[in-house]
Amino acid sequence: MVREKLNKYIINYVEKRILPSPADASLLLPSTFSLGKLPTKYPDNCNLSEKISLGTMFYDFHLLYPNVRKITEKTDYCTTCHIHKQNIKYASNEVERDTAESLLNTHLELAAEAREYYKFENVEAAKLSEPSLFQVISFDWAKNWELPKYLHQPGDLYFLSRQKIGIFAINNEVIDNQTFFCSPDVELSCYGKGPNVVISLLDYYPESMPIKPRRLSLFADNCGAQNKNNYVLWYLLYKSFITKKFDEIVLNFLIQGHTKFSCDRSFGCAKN
Ligand SMILES: [Zn+2]
Repeated sequence: MVREKLNKYIINYVEKRILPSPADASLLLPSTFSLGKLPTKYPDNCNLSEKISLGTMFYDFHLLYPNVRKITEKTDYCTTCHIHKQNIKYASNEVERDTAESLLNTHLELAAEAREYYKFENVEAAKLSEPSLFQVISFDWAKNWELPKYLHQPGDLYFLSRQKIGIFAINNEVIDNQTFFCSPDVELSCYGKGPNVVISLLDYYPESMPIKPRRLSLFADNCGAQNKNNYVLWYLLYKSFITKKFDEIVLNFLIQGHTKFSCDRSFGCAKN
């Protein structure tokens, strides 16, 4: 019974923090993840820390998640985390260190809450809902790709400039299906990746959905030039209030520096 409770508690803790891998279909945990932080957060009515050792917890964790990896700090870079970590490292006294630690913990809690909101209150909720009522889509630009792409690059190609293409992706989170839109070199240099292109593609995608939901939740990163600007907001207001095609559209932005989501995972799969 205690073991079951422990497993449930581990799952609850881990699922809130788990991230999709940008390279393949595996799952990752943030570099700051630590099972050692768990016992201090046990609910008051659950005296598990008295009965279960940290070693047992690690054992159960590896049984539950045999293929989950932790991201290295090098690839899990967030400017805010970096600044707080530097402040902790170079604090001149206890007060400064405690302040920096509490700021870092607050920031990480916020990131975990944002992840929970994205995963459970949207993606999982949409999976349980009728497609005609609620759906979730996420969208993002990939870094420009260069074509042709070789696994082993011929030497001469190093001295030639290849064609760049811009990749915009929209992921239907409910069925985990990603649609890629490619902008060739010329169009990319003419139109860029601004709100004009984003709105055009966002306008196309829901229209092409076989079942259009009454409530649509959108997820994007914090890029002001592409997603987080007045043009996108005005367009979404137009879509819901003027055309009345949706009863409600919610545009969500993930916490800066912690924006890994389904789009990144599919970019990684497509690249490989
Ligand atoms: Zn951070």
